Amino acid sequence: MKTLAVLNVSQLVTLAGPKRPRVGPELAELGVIHAGGMLLRDGVIAATGSSDAIEKQAPGDTAVIDAGGRLVLPGFVDAHTQPLFAGDRVDEFELRARGASYEEIAASGGGIRATVRKTRAASPEEPAEQALKHAGWFLRCGTTTIEAKSGYGLSLKDEMKMLRVIRAISARTPLELVPTFLGAHAIPEEWGDSPARYVREVINSMLPAVAAEGLAEYSDIFCERGYFNIETSREVMSAAKRQGLRLRMHVDQLTNSGGAVLAAELGAVTADHLEQTEGDGITALKHGNVQPVLLPSSVYALGKTRYPRARDMIDAGLAVILATDFNPGSSPTPSIPMILSLATTQMKMTPAEGVTATTINAAYSLGRGERIGSLEVGKLANFSIFDCEDYREVAYYFGIPQTRAVYVRGEEVFSGG
Ligand SMILES: [Zn+2]
Repeated sequence: MKTLAVLNVSQLVTLAGPKRPRVGPELAELGVIHAGGMLLRDGVIAATGSSDAIEKQAPGDTAVIDAGGRLVLPGFVDAHTQPLFAGDRVDEFELRARGASYEEIAASGGGIRATVRKTRAASPEEPAEQALKHAGWFLRCGTTTIEAKSGYGLSLKDEMKMLRVIRAISARTPLELVPTFLGAHAIPEEWGDSPARYVREVINSMLPAVAAEGLAEYSDIFCERGYFNIETSREVMSAAKRQGLRLRMHVDQLTNSGGAVLAAELGAVTADHLEQTEGDGITALKHGNVQPVLLPSSVYALGKTRYPRARDMIDAGLAVILATDFNPGSSPTPSIPMILSLATTQMKMTPAEGVTATTINAAYSLGRGERIGSLEVGKLANFSIFDCEDYREVAYYFGIPQTRAVYVRGEEVFSGG
């Protein structure tokens, strides 16, 4: 048995609390232990308390991690990423700086379709190597679990290829990946004249194949005018449910087409984006017990200004989540600390609410709330030591990595000290 003690922590942010996602004022309750410590046994948390008390109860042969008076947070849980792709979209990034809009670039053959072309042309090794590099980035930012969507294959063969890559790289990185099938991300070029036939392909071929091989836990769709409208989204997501997949949905990002209301009707676990969602959508999410996943970096990176109504959602009692939306087009960042900065400055969430939204609430949305997302006895010892004393500094200083060391199951997986 391997025993470790983490001592001398300025603030041990435990998020100890009810065994469910946090809502309303609970979002600001972090369960901070000042001058704290933790005892870890075989990668699992055995005790938390004051540093002095932990030191006293540690057996003689215990190895010590001295936090040196620094902050410790649970490993971040990033509940919305699209990390599997080949190439990048740096050229488009510059085109947008020169005045082109995301929609114009997509209409001229760029955007999601450009990444699909590169991803299809690649051998499985290329996106795998790139995804492993990205996994290192997530860990370096203090993230220890991500939800990972497919969605750049858009054919039976290529979607299966990318979901198998997620499975394969899981054995090669300490980062935990939770797979989501996003075959309904866009209509691929070859089906451009007959989008209805692509929808049949998703329903009749892709969903059954993904489910039969157990390659995904969740199914997602880009519910948006010009992509998959409300009726089509209802049809595809109902088929996904029949295959035993749980639902996460991209809704109300560019236009308010009633996507949040649909997510509630379908019993989705999460409704993601919600930049355009108004009061009726927020009410529906509450009644449907759907968790909102807010993605402020995609608003920021596209140079837009309309962020989702986080405060109204918190006031309505929703169990809000924040995530990076890491992808090559609209949100090329793996950094939850950057998201915490944006949430505080642009959406007026407090730093404490941000921490809850990127740990315990995100963990519950991925069906892992009993194992990760807080530092409580019996949970995995996934945590990070930051180069600061106060959790608010993680959101306050931006553009500089403050992670000093990151641990998964008690093992150091990144060291920047
Ligand atoms: Zn997305």
